[in-house]
Amino acid sequence: MARRRTKIVATMGPSTDAPDILDAMIKAGLDVVRLNFSHGTAEKHIEMAHRVRERAEALGRQVGVLVDLQGPKIRISRFKNGAIFLEENTHFILDAGLAENEGDIERVGIDYKPLPYDLNRGDTLLLDDGRIVLWVKSVVDKEIHCRVVVGGQLSNNKGINRQGGGLSAAALTEKDIADIKVAASIQADYLAVSFPRSADDVLLARKLLRDAGGYGGIIAKIERAEAVTELEAIIQVSEAIMVARGDLGVEIGDAALPPIQKSSIAMARRMNRVTITATQMMESMINNSIPTRAEVFDVANAVLDGTDAVMLSGETAVGKYPVKVIEAMDRICLQAEQQREIRVSRHRIDSKFERIDEAIAMAAMYTANHLDVKAIAALTDSGSTPLWMSRVSSGIPIFALTPHTSTSRRVTLYRGVYPVDFVLEHTDHALANMEMVDELKRRGVVSDGDIVLLTKGDLEIHGTTNGMKIIRVGEYLTPKDRLEK
Ligand code: PGA
Ligand code: MN
Repeated sequence: MARRRTKIVATMGPSTDAPDILDAMIKAGLDVVRLNFSHGTAEKHIEMAHRVRERAEALGRQVGVLVDLQGPKIRISRFKNGAIFLEENTHFILDAGLAENEGDIERVGIDYKPLPYDLNRGDTLLLDDGRIVLWVKSVVDKEIHCRVVVGGQLSNNKGINRQGGGLSAAALTEKDIADIKVAASIQADYLAVSFPRSADDVLLARKLLRDAGGYGGIIAKIERAEAVTELEAIIQVSEAIMVARGDLGVEIGDAALPPIQKSSIAMARRMNRVTITATQMMESMINNSIPTRAEVFDVANAVLDGTDAVMLSGETAVGKYPVKVIEAMDRICLQAEQQREIRVSRHRIDSKFERIDEAIAMAAMYTANHLDVKAIAALTDSGSTPLWMSRVSSGIPIFALTPHTSTSRRVTLYRGVYPVDFVLEHTDHALANMEMVDELKRRGVVSDGDIVLLTKGDLEIHGTTNGMKIIRVGEYLTPKDRLEK
């Protein structure tokens, strides 16, 4: 049976609290857990991170931990008497001067006090993910006077987006800065930055994480209109991007999402970066035990687009079927991956390579895709060789053999790459080859007669990858055999 290449990221929450659920999720194929710092306490997330590591180890699996910062989500504050109902064409005020719990049918407070300065007559505001639409008539001091264009029920703390983007809130709030320290303390493998506007926002998050002693890769969430404009610069400074379709769809309009998803994934792959496709992929499975046909197609289409990972949010965090939804994603990804067009590649066929290890990675994939190779084993310290390899479309599994746990966990997000904790005993190349092949044999990946492709560096000096070896399992001789003949 083929091995799934596309990775599954699942958000933890009340539905995943029970230890047996977490175990079942890992067994169903969970690759990376997402701790959503928009909800829950730091203590709870720390405990969950430890539990995930412990259960993954007990089950003999590598599971990555992704900390997702809340970011400057702009929200209304609260109502005196619970939810209100806004009638179309009535007047409503967002009032930066109003106390936190004083909202009523005429006005409500806002938590981001500078909001009135960012707005002008004619702006459109989208509340509660676009369910309610307000048109700005005028800004009077701290009050934003609006006409209700699309009405409905409005309850406490709902989000506010401006159509077209352009709100000034900095990407990292006080809370985010404190949460970055938590991410460092639990050695999160990834840190997701919410609502970055520019490369600088990403660089700042990375600096704060490194200063706090964290090693995780930085994921830029593409969820503001500005991030789409700045996409290339943002990808350049990130290890990965998340196509955050929830907030992004509110700002740029839902119909603009499909082309952006495709072009962002393509751009990230070209730039050797990783992509997560996120939000509402299996939304109906929050309540139903099977996905809709449209959701099946959404997941499969993201796989065809070339995403590294597909993400579950509410489906696992608060849904009724946190295990079934992973099983469903698993089977959909697996079948989508059988389509021929994503197993062949023209990746960088006419570009120059800058580094020796990059050249080996590309040569390995070209060879593997054109010869009947069963598996690739890349001996790696940083994981960069398997990352390059996995940018190339292929049906051949890439095993990242590494002595470093941090690398093992980081590659959990890379499409088609499988972490193997591995310490080489020998520095003699022939013996090392044998050890690497034996590891794949032991895992049942290859057997006698199969062709395997190995890459590694100069073993004596821990050099970067500069060699590739193609071996038919069972046919080659070790130096010892040679001596004995
Ligand atoms: P969120 O981000 O789930 O943290 O809001 C993802 C999105 O906006 O799609
Ligand atoms: Mn979001």
